[in-house]
Amino acid sequence: MARPQAKAARPVPRRAARWIYAFGGGRTDGRAKMKDLLGGKGANLAEMSRLGLPVPPGFTISTDVCTHYYAHGRSYPQGLRAQVSEALRRIEKALGRRFGDPARPLLVSVRSGARASMPGMMDTILNLGLNDETVQGLVRESGNARFAYDSYRRFVQMYGDVVLGLKPETKDEEDPFEVALQEKKRTRGVTLDTELDAQALHELVEEFKALIRMRRNVAFPEDPHEQLWGAIGAVFGSWMNPRAITYRKLNGIPETWGTAVNVQAMVFGNMGTDSGTGVAFTRDPASGENRFYGEFLMNAQGEDVVAGTRTPEPIAALEEENPSAYAELVKIRRTLEQHYRDMMDIEFTIQQGALYMLQCRVGKRTAFAAIRIAVDMVREHVIGTDEALRRVEPDQLNQLLRPIFDLGETKKAFAEKRGVARGLNAGPGAATGRVVFNAEDAMARAAAGDPVILVRIETSPEDIGGMNAAQGILTARGGMTSHAALVARQMGKVCVAGCEALMIDYRAREMRIRDRTEVVREGDFISIDGTTGDVYLGQIPTTPSEVVRVLVERSLDPGKAPVYQLYAQLMKWADKMRRLRVRANADQPDQCANAVAFGAEGVGLCRTEHMFFGEGKIGPMRETILAATVAERRVALAKLLPLQRADFEGIFRVMGGRPVTIRTLDPPLHEFLPHDEAGQREVARELGIPYERVRERVESLHEFNPMLGFRGCRLGIVHPEITEMQARAVFEAAANVRRDGIAVEPEVMIPLVGHVKELVLQADIVRRVAAEVMHETGVRFRYLVGTMIEVPRGALTADQIARVAEFFSFGTNDLTQTTLGVSRDDAGRFLVPYVTDFEIYDRDPFQTIDEPGVGALMRIACEKGRATRPKMKLGICGEHGGDPTSVELCHQLGLDYVSCSPFRVPIARLAAARAALRA
Ligand code: ADP
Ligand code: MG
Ligand code: MG
Repeated sequence: MARPQAKAARPVPRRAARWIYAFGGGRTDGRAKMKDLLGGKGANLAEMSRLGLPVPPGFTISTDVCTHYYAHGRSYPQGLRAQVSEALRRIEKALGRRFGDPARPLLVSVRSGARASMPGMMDTILNLGLNDETVQGLVRESGNARFAYDSYRRFVQMYGDVVLGLKPETKDEEDPFEVALQEKKRTRGVTLDTELDAQALHELVEEFKALIRMRRNVAFPEDPHEQLWGAIGAVFGSWMNPRAITYRKLNGIPETWGTAVNVQAMVFGNMGTDSGTGVAFTRDPASGENRFYGEFLMNAQGEDVVAGTRTPEPIAALEEENPSAYAELVKIRRTLEQHYRDMMDIEFTIQQGALYMLQCRVGKRTAFAAIRIAVDMVREHVIGTDEALRRVEPDQLNQLLRPIFDLGETKKAFAEKRGVARGLNAGPGAATGRVVFNAEDAMARAAAGDPVILVRIETSPEDIGGMNAAQGILTARGGMTSHAALVARQMGKVCVAGCEALMIDYRAREMRIRDRTEVVREGDFISIDGTTGDVYLGQIPTTPSEVVRVLVERSLDPGKAPVYQLYAQLMKWADKMRRLRVRANADQPDQCANAVAFGAEGVGLCRTEHMFFGEGKIGPMRETILAATVAERRVALAKLLPLQRADFEGIFRVMGGRPVTIRTLDPPLHEFLPHDEAGQREVARELGIPYERVRERVESLHEFNPMLGFRGCRLGIVHPEITEMQARAVFEAAANVRRDGIAVEPEVMIPLVGHVKELVLQADIVRRVAAEVMHETGVRFRYLVGTMIEVPRGALTADQIARVAEFFSFGTNDLTQTTLGVSRDDAGRFLVPYVTDFEIYDRDPFQTIDEPGVGALMRIACEKGRATRPKMKLGICGEHGGDPTSVELCHQLGLDYVSCSPFRVPIARLAAARAALRA
């Protein structure tokens, strides 16, 4: 495993190195901007202190220390220990307590915090500093032995789990501490942790310590300093634990960033019924509505709220429970939103009525919420339209286009009593799939092509791979801020959380539902609605989303479509901002209509070969290929001509004057013929020719490497009559449409050109046929002849090619294959490890343009092309045209347009706007 490298941009200073930044308690060194150095948590704790919010004092050990730690065989930089001691003394002074003091002990939490939030990936240790002596101080001081031993028991457990590694690798194994805790509750005849008294908790502390001795053969460290350094080491160590690595890979977080460590004075939510802890969002993270949204638990500490062990209360209930703390929290909500100008996610604790802030960060949200919040904040004059565009990730638009359950179908399901439970609507959308009860099964079944719904009592970080593979996630416990809800929102997954009616039995791989008799077994179908929280047995058909119904189907009145309204507003701002035009890759009139509905401004790639697979066309196409002579081939092509012409006409009519780029035949001919004997006999019979001839032809067309074989313009050069027919179909269609008064401007595109002479040969044919058709029909129309740039030689000689070509369109699929020397179809085995394990490429180069390689060739082609022909039209039609990062590169290269699949057109429009903003 690669070690994090020293950061090039910010070299670690040699002398007077500063490793620690204080916050709270009268001195704050950091600020929100210093996320790279302090991690998100540390930077925002500092920022909240600066805003005068009640933050318990503490300090942040910077990410530089993490870098140093891994660069130097897991050791700390010089000076760190002294700086930690000094920072501790500051906290001690601010609070009038001492670390390890038996009378008034200072207790701290040790918290990880990377630059990007990694929810739950690294574990926090609370109540550090407790031992058999200091716990007595806590008892005396608080007059609350139960509280003191509850804190102690939690600490020993967390320390044992996290630092000493007793926590089981998977959630299905039991945590030995939890087993002991359950056992204690059983013998005491209670059900809740809060019902255990001081004596029982004291016993647990001893039992926990014994467990540690037994399992690890070490004594629990009583020395607070040893505890502290153990915890710090564990946080840095956790940066490289498998869960953290998986999370980073899934989210594209570089290993080099490292984590910071925050050490912070404890405040206690478990001091009794006037104490508590909670999490909140300044707006609803699922719908984006402008209302305070959160959950809390009284007499609880730390993770209790999100852990799902007790179901929390909604934040509004805090108003009754503790009106002054609630009022202060509402004020802080406003302060934070005004300061950060965004929806924030906060953690707080109330200790004996006093409110403390423990964390804030920009809140994760669904795509719906992202758009609503962005649009609302513009209307509230909190942000401008530019900022609104920055706030919505282009890929999030996918969620708005995703299907939902058909209302009639869900009604029917309810009537059939298949609507069996309801949980929290944690991740909008509709999902149907087979039930699996753990992450590995989810991944295995999904890999086998099955849609799956991952059903868990609650999720935890080790489930991430399974959550990613699943269509939807369903949990029995936990609230809107639970791990499942948080991660689902981030991944854009359908999620129903906290569905308490579910009784899940992992061992039997089945679940029951309260008040129902059915048993749902692994592999059974269920359906979940993340917009309403409903859970159904069996499959439920889905229906297109609001946006699709308004735009594509026109079956919904835009006035009755609030989500569409928000979408339309955002896209309006995007269109105003962007310079790049957006076209679609489409080769059927209905696809073109969809594309236009989504805002396509033209067709960037019409693959004519796709048409040959349409009804009635494959026969004549095969005849063309099997023709023994040119004369025979012309006869076959004559049958294809009217069919192709009709296709083009349909497209031109739908596109109504928008540019349409049509590519001449590209794939190797053998793709049109069957490769098995039965299929070949069938073709022979249909065409009335001997089977032998078909077989021989297929054999003669066999190639060792078809990708580099007889395809692209090579076909049209050796068989000019094919290009001739295609050009004729295009131009006759243009003439027909033009005659009906519809504007049309076809762009004929020659594929796989590497040498200008190839283009000359093909362009001559196209231009000759255009002149013929104009002469024959008496209709004049404008057209262009251009080429794809998709082999390196084409890019390198673009100046020569541009003498003939009136436009270039980058075929980045082939250009990537030929530049990298990697066949996309054979890359599966090594390209995934190349990206994820060896980090050779940052991203899959077939998804995001490899800028240093392929991008460099594109730049050369643009420069050379425009040197010859300054007004040269430039575009891209590879899959990359719908990838936001690649769109940004296209903007930088000065292309005129990007072209992508119809459903990605909105994504490309937004990406183009964001690219213009960034430039
Ligand atoms: P995560 O990154 O998983 O959110 P945190 O470091 O935020 O982990 O801590 C986990 C829990 O412990 C949170 O609920 C947090 O509010 C709580 N917590 C952390 N530090 C303190 C502290 N000093 N006093 C009280 N609670 C704390
Ligand atoms: Mg937290
Ligand atoms: Mg190609």
